[in-house]
Amino acid sequence: MSARTYVTTVGVEVHVELATAAKMFCSCPNAPQDLLPNRAACPVCLGLPGVLPVINREAVRLGLRAALALNCRVNEIIWFERKNYIYPDLVKGYQISQYVRPLGEWGWLTIAGDDGKEKRVTIRRLHLEEDTCKLIHARDEARIDVNRSGVPLMEIVTEPVLRSGREAEEYARKLRAILVYNGISRCRIQHGEMRAEANVSIAPTDSGELGVRTEIKNQAGFNHMRSAIEYEVRRQADVLDAGGELRQETRGWDDANQRTFIQRSKEDAHDYRYFPEPDLPPARISTEWIEKERAALPPSYDAFVNGLGEKGLSRADIEALARNDALGFLGLAAEDRADKTVLFAKRLVKDVFSLVNSTGLPLDDAKLTPRSFRQAVFLLEDGRLNGEGFRRLLETLYREGGDAEMVAKSADLLVERDDAAVEQAIARVLAEAQLLVAEYRSGKTAVRNAIFGRVMKELRKKGNPKAVGPLLDKALETPGRD
Ligand code: ADP
Ligand code: MG
Ligand code: ZN
Repeated sequence: MSARTYVTTVGVEVHVELATAAKMFCSCPNAPQDLLPNRAACPVCLGLPGVLPVINREAVRLGLRAALALNCRVNEIIWFERKNYIYPDLVKGYQISQYVRPLGEWGWLTIAGDDGKEKRVTIRRLHLEEDTCKLIHARDEARIDVNRSGVPLMEIVTEPVLRSGREAEEYARKLRAILVYNGISRCRIQHGEMRAEANVSIAPTDSGELGVRTEIKNQAGFNHMRSAIEYEVRRQADVLDAGGELRQETRGWDDANQRTFIQRSKEDAHDYRYFPEPDLPPARISTEWIEKERAALPPSYDAFVNGLGEKGLSRADIEALARNDALGFLGLAAEDRADKTVLFAKRLVKDVFSLVNSTGLPLDDAKLTPRSFRQAVFLLEDGRLNGEGFRRLLETLYREGGDAEMVAKSADLLVERDDAAVEQAIARVLAEAQLLVAEYRSGKTAVRNAIFGRVMKELRKKGNPKAVGPLLDKALETPGRD
C-alpha cells in the first residue's frame, strides 16, 4: 500500500485499420490477412522514388463517418504530413500521416465511470494515416510482409481524463463497439485491426498537475491494457514513495510475469521532422459531404443498445453480445440493423451460447462464422429448417464450420417441401394409427399431438410444422381417404 495518495491519469491512443477495399494511397487490395505475404505491393506502397500517391476517398469517408459517430468537429480543409523515422517495418522511410490539421477534433463518447455515473471521455483528435509493414520474427531471423504497408489507418487520441485501468478498458471497448457498429473497421484484435496504447501517470492528490507519464505499447487485448495500467500505477507509486523520480519512457507489457518493462526512454525519443506531404494536395471536406454522411449514419450505438433492452434482451445478454462483440454480433447488427438484430441477438443468446456449454468449445475457437450463423438463422426464418434441424445445423457449423446451406443439404436437414411427399407420409401414419384416428374422430381431439408427432417422425424430423399441420388436419377431416 502506498504511503501517500495519488490520482491516476490515463490517456489512450488507438489505431484502427479501416475496412476499405483498397489501401490508403494506391489501389493495392486492403486484405493483409487473406493474401500470401508480399502479394499486395506496388511502387506506391513500397515508397519507390518518383511515385505519386492518391488519397483513397473511401478511407476519408470512413474517417468522416467515425468523426461524426464520435461527435467530433470536422475540419473543412485537411492535409497530410510526412512523419520521418527509420524502423525495419517502415520500408518507405516515412509514414504519411496527419499532424497539423487532423480530420476530426474534440469529440467524445460516454462510458460508465468508476463512480458509477455516466462519464464523457473527450477525444482530442482523430486523424488518418497509413499502416506499416508486418514484421514476422521466426527463430533468429526477422521477415517482412508488405501487405499491410499502406493499409488505411485511423488514430484516435483521448484527452488525459481517464482515472484507472478499468475506465481505460471501458473506453476502448466502447470505442470498438461504435466503430464496428458503424461499419468503419472490423476491429479484430487478434488480427491487429485495433491496437490501443495507454499513457499513464500519477500525481499527489490535489497537486493539480499531471505527473510524468509512461506509455505502454501495443497491448494484445483490453484486459491486458487494464492489467498493465494497474501495474504501472503501483510501480509509479512505489518509485515516488521511495523518494525516487519518474522518467518519461515507453514500456511493454509482459503478460506471463504480469509486469511492465522498459523499452525506450525519453532520450531516445524521435524527432519525426514532420513536413507537409509534397505529393498530396490539401483536401476539402465540404459541408454537403459532411451532412450527407451524417444523414447516412444509423441510430447512435447507445440508442441501438437501449433498443435491444426495450425489445426484451437482458442487460447481461446485451453486455455479452455487444461489449464483447460475440460472433461479430455488431457486424451482423451493422448489416441488418433494426429488423433482424433482435432475432440474431435472441438466437445467439439462446442457441449459440448454449453450444459453448454443451460442446465445451469457447466461442473464439468455434468454426461458426457470423456469415454462416446468419445464413442458418435465415434458413430457419424461411421455413427451410425446423427447430430441430436448425439446432443440428448450428452444432455442426459450430464444431466444423462450412457454408450453412451446403452443410444443411449434405446432412439432409432441410425440411421436406414437397406437399405430395408430406401427404404420403400422413397417409402412411393414419393407416397405421387407426386407433388414434378413431379416437380423434370421436371427439378426443387432444390425440392430434400424438398423431402429429408420428408424422414428423415419419418425415425423419424434416417436416415444417407450419406446412404439415394444415395437411394433417385436412386428412383427419376427410374420412375414408386413409
Ligand atoms: P505523444 O505526442 O507523445 O503521443 P500526446 O500529447 O499526443 O503525446 O499524448 C498522447 C496521449 O497521452 C494522449 O492520450 C494524452 O491524453 C496522454 N497524456 C498526455 N500527458 C499525459 C500524462 N501526464 N498522463 C497521462 N496521460 C497523458
Ligand atoms: Mg502518440
Ligand atoms: Zn500498393
